[in-house]
Amino acid sequence: MKFERLLFGTAGVPNSTPKKNNPIDGVKQVHALGLDCMQLEFAHGVRMKEEVSSGLRKVSYELGIPLTSHGPYYINLNAREQDKIDSSVERIIQTAKISDLCGAESMTFHAAFYMKDSPYDVFDLVQKSLNVIEERLNRLDIQIELRPELTGKTSQFGSLEELIDLTKSVSSCSPCMDFSHLFARTNEYNTYEEFCTVLKKLKEELDPNALQNMHIHISGISSNSKGDLKHLNLEDSDFNWRDLLRALKDFDCRGYVICNSPNLEKDAKMMKDFYLGL
Ligand SMILES: [Zn+2]
Repeated sequence: MKFERLLFGTAGVPNSTPKKNNPIDGVKQVHALGLDCMQLEFAHGVRMKEEVSSGLRKVSYELGIPLTSHGPYYINLNAREQDKIDSSVERIIQTAKISDLCGAESMTFHAAFYMKDSPYDVFDLVQKSLNVIEERLNRLDIQIELRPELTGKTSQFGSLEELIDLTKSVSSCSPCMDFSHLFARTNEYNTYEEFCTVLKKLKEELDPNALQNMHIHISGISSNSKGDLKHLNLEDSDFNWRDLLRALKDFDCRGYVICNSPNLEKDAKMMKDFYLGL
Protein backbone atom coordinates (compact mmCIF):
# COMPACT_ATOMS: atom_id res chain seq x y z
CA MET A 1 0.00 0.00 0.00
CA LYS A 2 1.14 3.55 -0.80
CA PHE A 3 0.79 5.91 2.12
CA GLU A 4 0.58 9.69 2.01
CA ARG A 5 1.16 10.12 5.74
CA LEU A 6 0.86 8.25 9.04
CA LEU A 7 -2.53 6.61 9.61
CA PHE A 8 -3.86 6.28 13.16
CA GLY A 9 -6.05 3.51 14.49
CA THR A 10 -6.86 1.15 17.31
CA ALA A 11 -5.58 -2.27 18.35
CA GLY A 12 -8.90 -4.04 18.06
CA VAL A 13 -12.44 -2.72 18.07
CA PRO A 14 -12.76 0.75 19.68
CA ASN A 15 -14.12 0.74 23.25
CA SER A 16 -17.01 2.98 22.27
CA THR A 17 -18.32 0.52 19.65
CA PRO A 18 -21.88 -0.50 20.66
CA LYS A 19 -21.24 -4.18 19.82
CA LYS A 20 -17.65 -4.65 20.92
CA ASN A 21 -17.43 -8.24 19.71
CA ASN A 22 -18.22 -7.27 16.13
CA PRO A 23 -15.14 -6.20 14.14
CA ILE A 24 -17.29 -4.93 11.25
CA ASP A 25 -18.98 -2.48 13.64
CA GLY A 26 -15.47 -1.68 14.89
CA VAL A 27 -14.37 -0.50 11.45
CA LYS A 28 -17.51 1.64 11.16
CA GLN A 29 -16.78 3.13 14.58
CA VAL A 30 -13.14 3.88 13.63
CA HIS A 31 -14.51 5.75 10.62
CA ALA A 32 -17.13 7.60 12.70
CA LEU A 33 -14.45 8.66 15.20
CA GLY A 34 -12.34 10.21 12.44
CA LEU A 35 -9.58 7.62 12.74
CA ASP A 36 -7.84 5.96 9.80
CA CYS A 37 -7.20 2.24 10.31
CA MET A 38 -7.85 -0.71 12.62
CA GLN A 39 -5.86 -3.73 13.74
CA LEU A 40 -7.61 -7.09 14.01
CA GLU A 41 -6.50 -8.72 17.26
CA PHE A 42 -6.29 -12.50 17.07
CA ALA A 43 -4.57 -12.55 20.45
CA HIS A 44 -6.55 -15.51 21.77
CA GLY A 45 -7.10 -17.50 18.62
CA VAL A 46 -7.44 -17.23 14.87
CA ARG A 47 -11.01 -18.02 14.01
CA MET A 48 -13.39 -15.97 11.95
CA LYS A 49 -16.52 -16.85 10.04
CA GLU A 50 -16.36 -16.40 6.29
CA GLU A 51 -19.14 -13.85 6.29
CA VAL A 52 -17.26 -11.77 8.88
CA SER A 53 -14.01 -11.74 6.92
CA SER A 54 -15.73 -10.91 3.64
CA GLY A 55 -17.82 -8.27 5.45
CA LEU A 56 -14.65 -6.77 6.91
CA ARG A 57 -12.97 -6.64 3.53
CA LYS A 58 -16.01 -4.88 2.08
CA VAL A 59 -16.50 -2.30 4.86
CA SER A 60 -12.78 -1.60 5.06
CA TYR A 61 -12.69 -0.90 1.32
CA GLU A 62 -15.89 1.14 1.23
CA LEU A 63 -14.99 3.37 4.18
CA GLY A 64 -11.29 3.61 3.29
CA ILE A 65 -10.18 2.13 6.62
CA PRO A 66 -7.28 -0.28 5.94
CA LEU A 67 -6.73 -3.19 8.33
CA THR A 68 -3.67 -4.73 9.95
CA SER A 69 -3.63 -7.81 12.18
CA HIS A 70 -1.94 -9.23 15.27
CA GLY A 71 -1.40 -12.98 15.67
CA PRO A 72 -2.07 -15.08 18.78
CA TYR A 73 0.09 -14.68 21.88
CA TYR A 74 0.87 -18.37 22.17
CA ILE A 75 3.38 -18.45 19.36
CA ASN A 76 6.91 -19.58 20.15
CA LEU A 77 9.14 -20.49 17.24
CA ASN A 78 11.74 -21.52 19.82
CA ALA A 79 9.53 -23.90 21.82
CA ARG A 80 11.13 -26.96 23.42
CA GLU A 81 8.89 -29.43 21.62
CA GLN A 82 8.86 -29.69 17.85
CA ASP A 83 5.06 -30.01 17.78
CA LYS A 84 4.78 -26.64 19.54
CA ILE A 85 7.03 -25.07 16.94
CA ASP A 86 4.92 -26.67 14.22
CA SER A 87 1.70 -25.34 15.72
CA SER A 88 3.27 -21.88 16.04
CA VAL A 89 4.08 -22.00 12.32
CA GLU A 90 0.48 -23.07 11.63
CA ARG A 91 -0.90 -20.22 13.74
CA ILE A 92 1.14 -17.66 11.83
CA ILE A 93 -0.02 -19.13 8.52
CA GLN A 94 -3.63 -19.21 9.71
CA THR A 95 -3.38 -15.56 10.82
CA ALA A 96 -2.00 -14.69 7.38
CA LYS A 97 -4.81 -16.55 5.60
CA ILE A 98 -7.60 -14.86 7.56
CA SER A 99 -5.88 -11.45 7.43
CA ASP A 100 -5.62 -11.83 3.67
CA LEU A 101 -9.33 -12.72 3.41
CA CYS A 102 -10.09 -9.53 5.37
CA GLY A 103 -7.88 -7.50 3.04
CA ALA A 104 -5.15 -6.76 5.62
CA GLU A 105 -1.71 -6.27 4.10
CA SER A 106 0.47 -6.25 7.22
CA MET A 107 0.43 -8.64 10.17
CA THR A 108 2.43 -8.64 13.36
CA PHE A 109 3.16 -11.33 15.94
CA HIS A 110 5.51 -12.11 18.82
CA ALA A 111 7.92 -14.57 17.26
CA ALA A 112 9.59 -16.42 20.14
CA PHE A 113 10.94 -16.58 23.65
CA TYR A 114 14.65 -17.11 24.26
CA MET A 115 13.99 -19.84 26.86
CA LYS A 116 17.54 -19.07 28.13
CA ASP A 117 19.03 -20.11 24.76
CA SER A 118 21.67 -18.06 23.02
CA PRO A 119 20.02 -15.26 21.01
CA TYR A 120 22.07 -16.38 17.97
CA ASP A 121 20.57 -19.87 18.05
CA VAL A 122 17.09 -18.45 18.51
CA PHE A 123 17.64 -16.13 15.58
CA ASP A 124 18.55 -19.07 13.35
CA LEU A 125 15.46 -21.03 14.35
CA VAL A 126 13.13 -18.06 13.89
CA GLN A 127 14.67 -17.32 10.51
CA LYS A 128 14.26 -20.92 9.37
CA SER A 129 10.60 -21.00 10.39
CA LEU A 130 9.92 -17.67 8.70
CA ASN A 131 11.48 -18.97 5.50
CA VAL A 132 9.16 -21.98 5.64
CA ILE A 133 6.17 -19.72 6.32
CA GLU A 134 7.12 -17.41 3.48
CA GLU A 135 7.42 -20.29 1.05
CA ARG A 136 4.06 -21.75 2.05
CA LEU A 137 2.33 -18.36 1.78
CA ASN A 138 3.86 -17.92 -1.67
CA ARG A 139 2.43 -21.25 -2.73
CA LEU A 140 -0.99 -20.17 -1.42
CA ASP A 141 -0.53 -16.93 -3.38
CA ILE A 142 -0.96 -14.87 -0.20
CA GLN A 143 0.95 -11.62 -0.22
CA ILE A 144 1.20 -10.16 3.25
CA GLU A 145 3.95 -8.39 5.14
CA LEU A 146 5.20 -10.52 8.03
CA ARG A 147 6.04 -8.12 10.82
CA PRO A 148 7.67 -9.68 13.88
CA GLU A 149 7.05 -7.25 16.71
CA LEU A 150 9.66 -5.32 18.62
CA THR A 151 8.92 -6.89 21.99
CA GLY A 152 8.96 -5.26 25.40
CA LYS A 153 10.46 -7.99 27.57
CA THR A 154 14.06 -9.06 27.52
CA SER A 155 12.89 -12.71 27.73
CA GLN A 156 11.27 -12.31 24.31
CA PHE A 157 12.99 -12.50 20.96
CA GLY A 158 12.52 -9.26 19.05
CA SER A 159 15.15 -6.60 19.75
CA LEU A 160 15.64 -3.80 17.25
CA GLU A 161 18.84 -5.41 15.96
CA GLU A 162 17.23 -8.84 15.60
CA LEU A 163 14.35 -7.41 13.60
CA ILE A 164 16.71 -5.52 11.31
CA ASP A 165 18.71 -8.70 10.69
CA LEU A 166 15.55 -10.73 10.02
CA THR A 167 14.34 -8.13 7.55
CA LYS A 168 17.61 -8.48 5.68
CA SER A 169 17.35 -12.28 5.51
CA VAL A 170 13.62 -12.97 4.93
CA SER A 171 12.18 -11.04 2.02
CA SER A 172 8.55 -10.67 3.22
CA CYS A 173 9.71 -9.62 6.71
CA SER A 174 9.88 -6.11 8.12
CA PRO A 175 9.78 -4.88 11.69
CA CYS A 176 6.64 -3.93 13.56
CA MET A 177 8.10 -0.97 15.40
CA ASP A 178 6.59 -0.92 18.86
CA PHE A 179 8.34 2.16 20.23
CA SER A 180 6.73 1.78 23.67
CA HIS A 181 8.19 -1.73 23.89
CA LEU A 182 11.58 -0.45 22.76
CA PHE A 183 11.51 2.05 25.63
CA ALA A 184 10.38 -0.60 28.15
CA ARG A 185 12.94 -3.11 26.91
CA THR A 186 15.95 -0.82 27.01
CA ASN A 187 15.01 2.02 29.35
CA GLU A 188 16.34 4.23 26.58
CA TYR A 189 14.87 5.65 23.39
CA ASN A 190 12.59 8.24 24.94
CA THR A 191 14.01 11.49 23.55
CA TYR A 192 13.73 13.18 20.17
CA GLU A 193 17.40 12.51 19.44
CA GLU A 194 17.12 8.84 20.36
CA PHE A 195 14.00 8.37 18.23
CA CYS A 196 15.93 9.95 15.33
CA THR A 197 18.79 7.50 15.91
CA VAL A 198 16.38 4.57 15.49
CA LEU A 199 14.80 5.98 12.36
CA LYS A 200 18.18 6.77 10.85
CA LYS A 201 19.28 3.21 11.52
CA LEU A 202 16.18 1.78 9.83
CA LYS A 203 16.67 4.07 6.87
CA GLU A 204 20.31 3.10 6.44
CA GLU A 205 20.04 -0.60 7.08
CA LEU A 206 16.72 -1.49 5.45
CA ASP A 207 15.12 -0.74 2.12
CA PRO A 208 15.39 3.01 1.39
CA ASN A 209 11.57 3.12 1.32
CA ALA A 210 11.17 1.31 4.65
CA LEU A 211 10.20 4.51 6.45
CA GLN A 212 7.41 5.17 3.96
CA ASN A 213 5.80 1.83 4.75
CA MET A 214 5.79 1.33 8.50
CA HIS A 215 3.71 -0.63 10.98
CA ILE A 216 4.06 1.07 14.35
CA HIS A 217 2.59 0.43 17.80
CA ILE A 218 2.37 3.20 20.41
CA SER A 219 0.81 3.16 23.86
CA GLY A 220 1.55 4.38 27.32
CA ILE A 221 3.68 1.85 29.16
CA SER A 222 5.39 1.11 32.44
CA SER A 223 7.74 -1.70 33.33
CA ASN A 224 9.07 -2.78 36.72
CA SER A 225 12.47 -4.19 37.58
CA LYS A 226 11.24 -7.72 36.83
CA GLY A 227 10.38 -6.63 33.31
CA ASP A 228 6.61 -6.94 33.74
CA LEU A 229 4.86 -4.66 31.31
CA LYS A 230 1.74 -2.67 31.82
CA HIS A 231 -0.03 -0.75 29.10
CA LEU A 232 -1.24 2.63 30.27
CA ASN A 233 -2.98 5.60 28.76
CA LEU A 234 -0.40 8.00 27.31
CA GLU A 235 -1.06 10.76 29.82
CA ASP A 236 -0.42 8.34 32.73
CA SER A 237 2.91 7.19 31.30
CA ASP A 238 6.40 8.65 30.93
CA PHE A 239 6.53 7.63 27.31
CA ASN A 240 7.47 10.67 25.24
CA TRP A 241 4.99 10.15 22.39
CA ARG A 242 5.01 13.79 21.31
CA ASP A 243 8.70 13.77 20.47
CA LEU A 244 8.29 10.38 18.80
CA LEU A 245 5.61 11.81 16.51
CA ARG A 246 7.82 14.84 15.83
CA ALA A 247 10.68 12.55 14.81
CA LEU A 248 8.40 10.37 12.67
CA LYS A 249 7.12 13.48 10.93
CA ASP A 250 10.61 14.92 10.41
CA PHE A 251 11.73 11.65 8.78
CA ASP A 252 8.59 11.67 6.58
CA CYS A 253 7.55 8.29 8.03
CA ARG A 254 4.33 6.85 6.66
CA GLY A 255 2.18 3.83 7.39
CA TYR A 256 0.10 2.50 10.28
CA VAL A 257 0.26 3.78 13.86
CA ILE A 258 -1.75 1.37 16.00
CA CYS A 259 -2.59 2.51 19.51
CA ASN A 260 -2.87 -0.12 22.22
CA SER A 261 -3.39 2.09 25.26
CA PRO A 262 -6.33 0.88 27.39
CA ASN A 263 -8.41 3.82 26.17
CA LEU A 264 -7.62 2.84 22.53
CA GLU A 265 -9.44 5.45 20.44
CA LYS A 266 -8.85 8.37 22.82
CA ASP A 267 -5.08 8.11 22.61
CA ALA A 268 -5.24 7.27 18.90
CA LYS A 269 -7.24 10.45 18.28
CA MET A 270 -4.99 12.52 20.55
CA MET A 271 -1.94 11.32 18.58
CA LYS A 272 -3.60 11.94 15.24
CA ASP A 273 -4.64 15.48 16.20
CA PHE A 274 -1.17 16.26 17.51
CA TYR A 275 0.50 14.82 14.39
CA LEU A 276 -1.75 16.74 11.99
CA GLY A 277 -0.90 19.92 13.90
CA LEU A 278 2.86 19.47 13.39
ZN1 LIG B 1 1.96 -7.37 20.36
